Amino acid sequence: MLIRLSQAQLNLLETCPRKFQQVYLDQLGTPIAPEQQDQMNWGSRFHLLMQQRELGLPALTAARTDRLLQTCVDAFIQAAPELFHQQAVFRQSEHRRTLEFQSYLLTVVYDLLILNPQQAQILDWKTYPRPQNPRWLAENWQTRLYPFVLAETSDYSPEDISITYWFVQAAQSVSETNPETPETTFQPQSLKFNYSKAQHEATRSKLVALLSQLTEWLERYQVGEPFPQVEVAANQCGFCAFDVRCQRHQPQMTDFEGLPTLAEIQEVAL
Ligand code: SF4
Repeated sequence: MLIRLSQAQLNLLETCPRKFQQVYLDQLGTPIAPEQQDQMNWGSRFHLLMQQRELGLPALTAARTDRLLQTCVDAFIQAAPELFHQQAVFRQSEHRRTLEFQSYLLTVVYDLLILNPQQAQILDWKTYPRPQNPRWLAENWQTRLYPFVLAETSDYSPEDISITYWFVQAAQSVSETNPETPETTFQPQSLKFNYSKAQHEATRSKLVALLSQLTEWLERYQVGEPFPQVEVAANQCGFCAFDVRCQRHQPQMTDFEGLPTLAEIQEVAL
């Protein structure tokens, strides 16, 4: 049976193979702080609302009663009207594609895909703040895998393809005149990455290497050998819920310091 792999799984595999094993093969759960769970729920509702809007369906009752959510959606539509009113040969939200590659099924889900004769736009909604350093996102597997799969499963050349992230979370700031009442501002921001043939071939090489490695680790795992741990020097274990199990625990940390940050948690696919 072919194994399905998403960008989140590739990210985890690259970050720490042992963590990939513990999450996806051993199926060990990791605790999530209540605040992070709330943020994830909010992100899921935002994605659902955007999908309903694209389908022309009335908003959910829950979304109508959530003023912050609705305000964020309205601010987003106002900030990027071209996204919502442009004519396209094809546009679909929650568009799913699968590519068979080296005995794996690479699976992507685009929040919105807009196709025109010479242009393919992949859009993704992020419900966390825009990262200070765009390189973090440029190197994320989502930015590499999403255009790769589209180029491999369509007639578009890599140069025709782009992926744009929209960061839609509301921000709170303290006003000088009224410091007791924080002001909430809605200024969605975007980050666009154009794709190219060179990037496409670089991603192909990376995938070949990573998946060959995964096949080898899986074969060893079948006979009882665990996946390798990331080097201590990579500083990943201090942010990992498996630190005790891996004997990488740092005693000075508090319970929730070991949890992933919001930006590291993948949004739930609808
Ligand atoms: S504690 Fe370190 S080695 Fe263990 S799974 Fe987490 S990141 Fe990997």
